[in-house]
Amino acid sequence: MSEASARLRRLQRRLDREGVDALYVSALPNIAYLTGFRGSAGHLLVPTTGPGTLFTDGRYRVQAAQEAPEAELVVAETDPLGALLGSLPGRGIRRMAFEADRLSHAAWSRLCAGAPETSLTQALGWVERERWVKSAAEIEAIRQAAELAAASLDAVLGRLDAQWSEQRLAAEIDHEMRLRGASGPAFETIVAGGAHGALPHARPRPTPLPRRELIVIDHGAILGGYVSDQTRVISLGDPGPRARDLAQAVQAAQQAAMAAIRAGVAAKTVDRAARESLKEQGLDSLFIHSTGHGLGLEIHESPKLGKSEDARLRSGMVLTVEPGVYREGFAGARIEDIVTVTSQGYQRLLPATPGLLIL
Ligand code: ZN
Ligand code: ZN
Repeated sequence: MSEASARLRRLQRRLDREGVDALYVSALPNIAYLTGFRGSAGHLLVPTTGPGTLFTDGRYRVQAAQEAPEAELVVAETDPLGALLGSLPGRGIRRMAFEADRLSHAAWSRLCAGAPETSLTQALGWVERERWVKSAAEIEAIRQAAELAAASLDAVLGRLDAQWSEQRLAAEIDHEMRLRGASGPAFETIVAGGAHGALPHARPRPTPLPRRELIVIDHGAILGGYVSDQTRVISLGDPGPRARDLAQAVQAAQQAAMAAIRAGVAAKTVDRAARESLKEQGLDSLFIHSTGHGLGLEIHESPKLGKSEDARLRSGMVLTVEPGVYREGFAGARIEDIVTVTSQGYQRLLPATPGLLIL
């Protein structure tokens, strides 16, 4: 059985338990997960048994047949969602679940109008939940994306020109990832120097890279449909003890968080370990986001390593670990790496790096 059909079977057992006749899957990453289809327009109807039906438009006739060979394919030239809704009575679908947090209001209105005989019920995170634990092939895909992104950054830093702006450095990283085979950056690459680095999601500016100040670089690659995510902190020349201490505290917090990772542990326990480590340095109040997140087909997947995330870690989850501290008007520091959860603890996807990199 292919990986896609095994995933579909697992989901269908959930449909049985929930007592629905079908799930309408509208989120493209979920469709990719269940069928292999990676186009930008599609709607998937999953019944309780048998193959799913993928509704798409004429642009994807060839691609959908190639990428999703096990799905039943319906090509509707103008209105794939209309075709899906129109097929419900003939399929005997009386109770259909839909992805309530993945649907526009306009699409919801069409469901209500277009399926008057079908009772609609909310599905929250049903497919996402199936995606929590990655297969060996998925872990390898993420590792390759991570390796590509890390090697790209190393290559760019090797030819870094101190006259570059934040924008130029970000563009060089993106370009290098493309040259090495990435289908694109996994998200908008962050390069933020000095006080600008105190904004966790800073946008690169046309401003020259600062000397002897921390520069935060957060980037990832998309490769084979899977994403990576890493953050490094560098400095052009010694940034001085105050900045070095900041970076060192973040690295210690990352190690403390990783040490807390093991199958069975609550996600919030990992977050607490990072916060307690920073508290020892009096820096916990400057740590203003979660310790990490799942990733895979999307850059932010659940579970989150957050303060109130009760979910238990499971072997095969792939998570980022990325504590950071942000001192307004001075600097930010964040170090981010990806690990897989194991029954004994964790495994880094890539070898550890030495923290602050002074060039
Ligand atoms: Zn990141
Ligand atoms: Zn991240």
